[in-house]
Amino acid sequence: MPRKAVSKRPSEPAGRDPMEQLVSSFFQIIGEDESREGLVETPARVRLACDEVFAGYRQDPKTILKTFSEDVCKEMVLLKHCEFYSTCEHHLFPFFGHISVAYLPNRKIVGISKLARLVDCFARRLQIQERLTAQIADAIMDVLDARGAYVLCEATHFCMTSRGIRKQNASMVTSAIRGEFEKKEALRMEFLAAVTGNISGK
Ligand code: ZN
Repeated sequence: MPRKAVSKRPSEPAGRDPMEQLVSSFFQIIGEDESREGLVETPARVRLACDEVFAGYRQDPKTILKTFSEDVCKEMVLLKHCEFYSTCEHHLFPFFGHISVAYLPNRKIVGISKLARLVDCFARRLQIQERLTAQIADAIMDVLDARGAYVLCEATHFCMTSRGIRKQNASMVTSAIRGEFEKKEALRMEFLAAVTGNISGK
C-alpha cells in the first residue's frame, strides 16, 4: 500500500521549504506545539496559500493588459464592483472589498476580464489600499495609453475590525483619478452615477 503523501515533517529541518520553516518558527514563538495533529500539515498549507495570496509578485501588468485596436468606443468603459482580497503590509492582515475600474479608451481597449486580472495582480501583494488604487489607475494610463482612468475602492481591514481600534462596520474608500477624469466633472459624475447604479445619470 502506498503511504499517504505527507509533506515534510517538523523533524526534517534539512532542505525544508523556507516558508514552512518560517511557519514552524512562528508556532514556537507564540507558544504552540507544532507536532499536534491540527498543526502538522499547516506549514505546507500556508506555503500553498501564500503561493496564491501573493501571486501578484509573479505577474506583469503589461502582459496582463493585452490590448487590441478599436476606434469605435470613445466613451467610458467600466468594470464595476470587482471583488478583491489583499494583505495589509503594516500588519500582514487581510483587507478586502470591491473595486470599480473605468477608463476612457484611446484607440486601444482590453477584454473586461483583463481589468479583473489587473486588480488581482496588484491586490495579491503586500499592499496599502491607497497604493493598490493608484497602481491600477497608473497601469491603465501607462499600458493602454488611455485618455483617463478612475478607480474607486472600498475595503474592510481586519487590522482595524479585529484588533486595535476595533471598528466592525467601518470601511475605507480610496480613489485614483487620472487624465480627462481629473479635468471634467461631467465624466466624474458619469462614473459615480454608473458605480452607484444610476446608469442614466438622471
Ligand atoms: Zn493594517
